[in-house]
Formats: sequence, structure tokens, C-alpha cells
Amino acid sequence: MNIILLGPPGAGKGTQARKLVDERNMIQLSTGDMLREAKTSGTEMGNKVAAVMERGELVTDEIVIGLIEEKLQGDHAGGFIFDGFPRTLAQADALADLLKSHGTQLDTVIAMEVNDDALVDRITARSTCGNCGEVYNDHTKPQPADGKCSNCGASDFKRRADDNEASLRTRLMEYYKKTSPLIGYYHAKGQLQWVAGLGEIDEVAGAISAVLDA
Ligand code: AMP
Repeated sequence: MNIILLGPPGAGKGTQARKLVDERNMIQLSTGDMLREAKTSGTEMGNKVAAVMERGELVTDEIVIGLIEEKLQGDHAGGFIFDGFPRTLAQADALADLLKSHGTQLDTVIAMEVNDDALVDRITARSTCGNCGEVYNDHTKPQPADGKCSNCGASDFKRRADDNEASLRTRLMEYYKKTSPLIGYYHAKGQLQWVAGLGEIDEVAGAISAVLDA
């Protein structure tokens, strides 16, 4: 099964994707993670996109489609979770073509519904474990007092360079201008399912599971 998690920054796409990986043997393809990795390892492409990402703008379709194309090689029986991709109509068309060329297709698009106030609050309070990617929130899930990640025990917490209010404003505008049209696109294809994204992590996961099992 191949699915897209669609929603604005801070909707909880990454957190829910990680749960699906654990529970359903699916593979998470996060273009944001891939781009951050390219940035950290100092590749030419990583250096090129660093400033664009920090401003909160979208990097080019060509770059992200290329990243996804690479990851679709090979046999992945559990299917893919596309997290943060596609973000434009051109990316959505490219994804359909790529899946078709691999003899598969998209099954469901989960649109995660959240309000903007909650997004600002979540993102400015967000940190992650640099080792395993576990997500923390200063208010609802603070970093453990012993300084060790509750998932993997590492002591390497990170805050994203673009998790600040100025960049978030741009990221939200990019979402509404370029990504939210995908809601209509997938609705028209009969593939869109809404899930309330504001509840507790397990509650949202339950709602997503119910959609996938229906
Ligand atoms: P994310 O981790 O999904 O919030 O992505 C972080 C940043 O990476 C975004 O603000 C964009 O600058 C860039 N990015 C990630 N995925 C895409 C995409 N599919 N298309 C364009 N830019 C992307």
C-alpha cells in the first residue's frame, strides 16, 4: 500500500509516518529528511538548497522528484509513506508516473486537519533526537530529565533551523499557495481521506489506521 500524508508544517506527518513504519512495515520517504541529510553531509545539492530551506521556501520540483525517484528503486512489499512529498501539482503528477513505471499506484491520501495556531505552537516547541528522530515538544512531551532520548537513549537533541516564527510564516504561505491545491487534485481522483490531526498522537494514529483498514 502506498500512501501520502498531506498537511501543513507541524501537522504531525513525520510522527505518524514513524508509527506506520513500526506497525505496518512501510517505508517512510520524507523529502525534508533527505534534504536535511544532504545539507549535513555537505553535498553540492545540499549546499544549494540550504538557504532556500532556512527561509522556508520550497526547493525545486526537479531536485525532490530526483530524490524520490532514487528511493523507489527495489522491491518494497510493505509500501511507501510519502511524507512532505508531493508539495506541488507537478510533483503529484511526477509521483503518479513514477509509481506507474514501477507497476504500482497510490492507494490513499490522508489529509491531516489542524488549525494554524496549533501549528505555530507545535513547531516553535519542537525538538527531535538527532540519532533516531523521536519528536519532542516542550509542552506536551518534554525531553526526558536525564537528557537521554526515551526511544534510543542518545543525548543529541536538535532543533531545526527553520522551526522559527519567521520561517514558519513562509512555510505556511508556501503550503497554502502551492500544496493545498493537492487537496482538490486528490479529491477529484477519489483518493482523499480527512483525519483530524489535533488529538493525541495515538488517537490520530488510530484514525489513520481506521482509514487504511477500511
Ligand atoms: P519538511 O521537513 O517536510 O518540513 O521540509 C523542510 C523543508 O524542505 C521545506 O520547508 C522545503 O524547503 C524543503 N522541502 C521538503 N520537501 C519538499 C518538497 N516536496 N518540495 C519542495 N521543497 C521541499
